[in-house]
Amino acid sequence: MSDPSAAERAQALAELEARALVCTDCALHESRTNVVFGSGDPNADVMFVGEGPGQSEDEQGLPFVGPSGRLLEQLLGEIGLTRAEVYIGNVVKCRPPRNRDPRPDEIDACKGYLRTQLELIDPQVVVTLGNFATKLLLRTETGITRLRGRAYEWWGGRYLVPTFHPAAALRGSARVLEESRYDFGLVRAVLDGNLSVEGSLSAAEDVDAALAPPPNEPPPAEQLDLFDP
Ligand code: URA
Repeated sequence: MSDPSAAERAQALAELEARALVCTDCALHESRTNVVFGSGDPNADVMFVGEGPGQSEDEQGLPFVGPSGRLLEQLLGEIGLTRAEVYIGNVVKCRPPRNRDPRPDEIDACKGYLRTQLELIDPQVVVTLGNFATKLLLRTETGITRLRGRAYEWWGGRYLVPTFHPAAALRGSARVLEESRYDFGLVRAVLDGNLSVEGSLSAAEDVDAALAPPPNEPPPAEQLDLFDP
């Protein structure tokens, strides 16, 4: 879509949500209470992508409303943002039973919704929360611990900042929380244009390529220096 107006984006997103709410494309629809499509500003500069709804999210039909969501809101506040100013979605829109990991066929079935959300919202920065979103959107098998701490140039000049899932920061050591804070600082730096770009990841040409299966060769991931010395 070429440069839609704010109202057109909101409308297209609402139409996509209406489709998702009756989706039966994978087995997760059998056990869900609500589809958790995503929420926030359809014109946001920052979009967060989590893994999938947990119990509170399944009950309320909204993303990140449980303990992980509270930490996400706190970290957002620390970089001067509220959840109303960003968009929050997930790799899978329905809760995997007992919070098990989403399966490849479920991720595949749901990928089209995420792709269209990214296309419509067209954020300047995408923040992937945890391994599932990061591996999907950076097309890599490398784990979050090795990938985080940098911003990657992504398709069409956008940036992707991978960070720990807030649940990992809640469960983990103080270091995980501190590193999450650092990564949120990178988001602030991207928004402020506080970048000194020295290299670039082999950015995908478009969102379809960004969501394509990993290429055979390991994906290059050169670090971008975000803070001017
Ligand atoms: N964890 C996620 O990955 N997504 C949510 O929406 C809530 C918890």
